[in-house]
Amino acid sequence: MPSPDLGQRLLAWYDLHARTLPWRVGPAQRAAGRLPDPYRVWLSEVMLQQTTVAAAKGYFERFTHRWPTVQALAAAPEAEVMAEWAGLGYYARARNLIACARVVADEFGGQFPRTGDELVKLPGIGPYTAAAIAAIAFDRPETVVDGNVERVMARLHAVEEPLPAAKRRLAGLAARLTPTERPGDHAQALMDLGATVCTPKSPSCGACPWAGDCAAHKKGLANVLPRRAPRAARPTRHGIAYIARRADGAWLVERRPSRGLLGGMLGWPCSEWGEAPAPAPPLQADWADPGAQVRHTFTHFHLHLSLRVARLDEDARPERGFFMPAAEFDPASLPSVMRKAHALAAPLLKGF
Ligand code: SF4
Repeated sequence: MPSPDLGQRLLAWYDLHARTLPWRVGPAQRAAGRLPDPYRVWLSEVMLQQTTVAAAKGYFERFTHRWPTVQALAAAPEAEVMAEWAGLGYYARARNLIACARVVADEFGGQFPRTGDELVKLPGIGPYTAAAIAAIAFDRPETVVDGNVERVMARLHAVEEPLPAAKRRLAGLAARLTPTERPGDHAQALMDLGATVCTPKSPSCGACPWAGDCAAHKKGLANVLPRRAPRAARPTRHGIAYIARRADGAWLVERRPSRGLLGGMLGWPCSEWGEAPAPAPPLQADWADPGAQVRHTFTHFHLHLSLRVARLDEDARPERGFFMPAAEFDPASLPSVMRKAHALAAPLLKGF
């Protein structure tokens, strides 16, 4: 049975070792009375869904520089927000980000609700994100359980049941530790412990404030827990991307439907993505096959995207998509898979 002062030891460790993050009010600042900005907490938590801290930092800095308040983000044109989000992936998050900002600005007077129960009703905020915002921004005693916390709990209690079946049990174990004093710092401390000490591979048990209580450490299981049920293999889908430039240098691009994969993002006109998709060029043209292929992995499948390139006359009339002048075209505003395709095709379409 772990000792009752686990929480105290975790906070003492956090006071010394908290990560410095651009969205964080650290323990010393917090003790001095500085409060976190709920907008920054919310924005960081949405960015961190499916994205590493290292990858999210730059995006966070750019977003908060450009849109320093939720009202500013709510007033931003959707296409500009989507372009700034490009490369972070999971584009439904960006659409929900805009929708949420607008609800908070219009219906809540720019003030985020303070409890997990209220927050979870906002677009793009699931139970995890709601608990994280309530704990971190408003210091409410909510239990925040991400992959880091699951790992730490599985090890601390030597839970052998594999994930995902063990999720509920691990959340229950985390809930038992959630304090009423400094719950926001506790939530962040647990995340930091998982990210920097109780890491997925080779945890640094010698530096861990819980080593004396940790069942996995005592049993020599720290490196093998948590166990995971085998994942179903990702299928591979195939597709064709049509990349064309007009004689004046404009690129033929398409905005993807707002719902579905890469929804609302700019991209190249494509065939269906499937086992053996039929060609679907956006117009009749002299399409060349350069033998180039982009490989990209989405959550549920691998994509092998073959390229076709064409040079078009000034009077070309595509059935799909629209021409974007070269001066307005920025590859950085494309989602990663489309950016990779551009990088391969651009040298072939030089000279306009
Ligand atoms: Fe993780 Fe090791 Fe600490 Fe246990 S002792 S919680 S395995 S870092």
